[in-house]
Amino acid sequence: MPEDVVTMDKIVALCKRRGFIFPSSEIYGGIGSTYDYGHYGVLLKTAVKNAWWNAMLGRDDIVALDSALLQHPRVWEASGQLAGVTDPLVDCRTCKARFRADHLGELACPRKPSKHPGEGPECDLTPARDFNLMFETTVGPVKESGSAAYLRPETAQGIFINFKNVLQFSRKKPPFGIAQVGKSFRNEITPGNFIFRTREFEQMEMEFFVPPAEAPEWYEHWKQARLAWYEELGLRPDHLRLREHDADELSHYSSGTADVEYLFPIGWSELEGIANRGDFDLKAHAAGSGKPIEVVEQDGTRYVPYVIEPAAGVGRSVLAFLADAYDEEDLDGETRTVLKLHPRLAPVKVAVLPLVKKDGQPELAAELHTALKRRMQAEYDEGGSIGKRYRRQDEIGTPWCVTIDHQSLEDRTVTIRDRDTLAQERVPIDDVPDLLSARLAASWTSPKAGA
Ligand code: ATP
Repeated sequence: MPEDVVTMDKIVALCKRRGFIFPSSEIYGGIGSTYDYGHYGVLLKTAVKNAWWNAMLGRDDIVALDSALLQHPRVWEASGQLAGVTDPLVDCRTCKARFRADHLGELACPRKPSKHPGEGPECDLTPARDFNLMFETTVGPVKESGSAAYLRPETAQGIFINFKNVLQFSRKKPPFGIAQVGKSFRNEITPGNFIFRTREFEQMEMEFFVPPAEAPEWYEHWKQARLAWYEELGLRPDHLRLREHDADELSHYSSGTADVEYLFPIGWSELEGIANRGDFDLKAHAAGSGKPIEVVEQDGTRYVPYVIEPAAGVGRSVLAFLADAYDEEDLDGETRTVLKLHPRLAPVKVAVLPLVKKDGQPELAAELHTALKRRMQAEYDEGGSIGKRYRRQDEIGTPWCVTIDHQSLEDRTVTIRDRDTLAQERVPIDDVPDLLSARLAASWTSPKAGA
């Protein structure tokens, strides 16, 4: 297998160059590890979220929720996050750098990068200390006692505190799930690796409530289903794996957790966690609020459901899809940079390009563009040489370019250029929308797989 040409630097550069993702507050010198998404970044990220919603709501046993970012501080007290979502932290008295105590084995000593922190001759680490990852803010204009609130560090708690509402209004009974997509905030100690770990990020989380006896079975189901989701969206199977956590890695609430991991340019890393959270959360909120949270069966039996949670990150998925898609090829002595994204994820599905800006070609191209726009994200581009326009579309991952030329005006046929094979085919212009809709719906495997 030829070596993958992708590096993190190349992805960062492409994202900037093509308007996917910019460092935030750049004109003020930036604010560490915070990013803004430009047009193509928004389209890609929206496509990822839509694919997730389709996978969730395509089933009949999952409903949607959108809970508030700010929640009652007692939510975090009950969930254990106010006290417990802490990462042990160590400082080096010599170099003043700060590290996560549980990551020392993966980090490099800033003074002697061949060593891990604590292993260099001059390292002088403090004992591990707890550090709260939640951002604190004030509700109301005056900072006074009792006005503290926290930005949510995960979307999940918003689901648990609404369990009773949903149970009542959705007419669902376990097994059923509640899905949510939204921003979460963690004051991460060591953010970095572009959008892999940021302090503000989006999550796609689903809490699946089940009768306790069915929890092991549903845990298995969701591990496989979530792995399959990434494969269906084109991530190469040899770059994906499921890794079961060891007992000493489990969170305080979990009786089983597995990560979907992707082979990023930085190595195998977590894309998504699937956890069997048991009845920890619902019981914690019942105790915290003093209100019972349980399911009552028709025969009167009561129980607290167990929860299986697949929790994914939008930015991390975007990064994985970009890394998996990035390719460079030699084309007529020049390097062609191309994003071989699954067509359903590609920010733009089709570009309509008149070969020249005259002889009626722009008009015919505009007609096709209008027809395509109704069905899919389509771009019209008449500026610059055709080669330059192809290169631009390749770099943003557009799977199809339709070229209008001299012949198109004579017989209403156009050329479709395929991003991955570079094959060109001539088809009647009126067939293009149906043809591309069918291709968009078809299954797809990465041409990089097994390359
Ligand atoms: P990690 O060990 O990488 O910090 P985690 O196990 O704490 O992640 P979870 O709490 O399970 O993460 O969150 C679920 C998902 O949310 C993660 O798999 C990841 O995709 C995403 N996520 C979590 N923290 C961040 C972050 N700081 N930046 C970007 N995405 C994140």
